[in-house]
Amino acid sequence: MFKDLNIAQIGHPILRNKTKDIPINDIKSDNTQKIIEKMIKTMRKHNGAGLAANQIYEPVRICIIEVLDNPRYKHLNTIPLKILINPKVIIKKDTATFNSYEGCLSVPNLRGKVRRYNSINVTYYTMDAKKITENIKGLESIVYQHEIDHLDGYLFTDKVEDNSTLVTYENYQKYYEEEYKKELENFNSIAENLS
Ligand SMILES: [Zn+2]
Repeated sequence: MFKDLNIAQIGHPILRNKTKDIPINDIKSDNTQKIIEKMIKTMRKHNGAGLAANQIYEPVRICIIEVLDNPRYKHLNTIPLKILINPKVIIKKDTATFNSYEGCLSVPNLRGKVRRYNSINVTYYTMDAKKITENIKGLESIVYQHEIDHLDGYLFTDKVEDNSTLVTYENYQKYYEEEYKKELENFNSIAENLS
């Protein structure tokens, strides 16, 4: 049905523009449903953990998340398909942060360390136009923060504080993945007690 499942790459202006909210009355429209369907197909084809609408050249505020035994993201637990329409993130003051090694389908063959919050509140609409507010904690919240950043025109590379952490995917696996897994295990063991 969809022939073109390509993804906008870093440097394409659409990735830098803030996306527009979907009017509530349009959430159930054929057009919105079609965009979401195409996003799901594209994310799965490229083995992503998530995808933002502007990555498939649609300048609207929708992102999706799904992690099912993903070989690119071995350290993440599974997350069943989640569709977030008009998502907004609220971060409480003094929320703990941790370093997350990230990659992106719009940034070919690059990973880097980004500081992310341990706990976020996300408000969004479902495909049935129901408004939901959820608290997302720990590693799961990495994917949310990464995807919602896309909708605001940011890429993970904007948030890499130490450029020496930028590595190819191959070198990530070869030199950094083991150590990163240990860091995450340590973080997970204390995360329950963090704000
Ligand atoms: Zn991305």
